[in-house]
Amino acid sequence: MNRKNIIILLLTICIAVVAGGYYIHQQNHDDSRELARLELLREESPDVPHITSFCYHECRPDRPMDPLNIPPEEFRTQIRELREAGYTFINLTDIRDYLDGTADLPAKPVFIAFDDGYTDNYTYMMPIIREENAKATVFMVSSKVGAPNRLTAAQLREMQNNNITIGSHTVNHEDLTAMTPGQVDYEMRQSRADLERILGTDVVAIAYPCGRVNDKVVAAAQKYYAFAFIASIDRRHKETRFTLNRYGVFSWNHHINSIFNNIFRT
Ligand SMILES: [Zn+2]
Repeated sequence: MNRKNIIILLLTICIAVVAGGYYIHQQNHDDSRELARLELLREESPDVPHITSFCYHECRPDRPMDPLNIPPEEFRTQIRELREAGYTFINLTDIRDYLDGTADLPAKPVFIAFDDGYTDNYTYMMPIIREENAKATVFMVSSKVGAPNRLTAAQLREMQNNNITIGSHTVNHEDLTAMTPGQVDYEMRQSRADLERILGTDVVAIAYPCGRVNDKVVAAAQKYYAFAFIASIDRRHKETRFTLNRYGVFSWNHHINSIFNNIFRT
């Protein structure tokens, strides 16, 4: 190989390295699709808070291949990426204050929620939220308080004292769309009453189990809560205050950009 060819080869390698690095950087920090989604929402539904929301479940170091488990250090990476991308962490209290008209939301609000109330939320998630000075929310199944591998009343109270607000995820975690109106009413009312007794504060929001919702379920939620969440980004339905979208986070989502891409899967 002559000298000219070696220089061309080296230049090609340099360009590939720089371009590759730029591509990876963009992949890790590109939230333009999410911002476009929120802009669309702004036009369609001026009464809906414009929040980027995530739905997590478990956070434990074992079982990294479990789709619903985000190991703690990956969760920490995602929290740091969101902050680097200019997001400010909010919880249920911030959203309630915004809807009450007593406070504004930050420019890029991000809402981190863990559904079902597993013990690892206390053991691994809470210390990360505290160390990273972030905020989060747990949607708790009220009949599971103190059950094996679920949060206890004392743990829920301690989390609440560490910027983690608690919302309802019904009493029994069953499909609300398959119930009689009386059963739906019970799931909404009793879960709120039980959690409020444990926490000593208002429970202002609910996340529907598996995100399953219809008009009757929304009507019942409006009776007992100030706002409510589904479990994914659902582009088939207009987002409302009682069907707030969330990005489902799965074990293959190593970086925030890959979570934002979930919008194209639903
Ligand atoms: Zn759930």
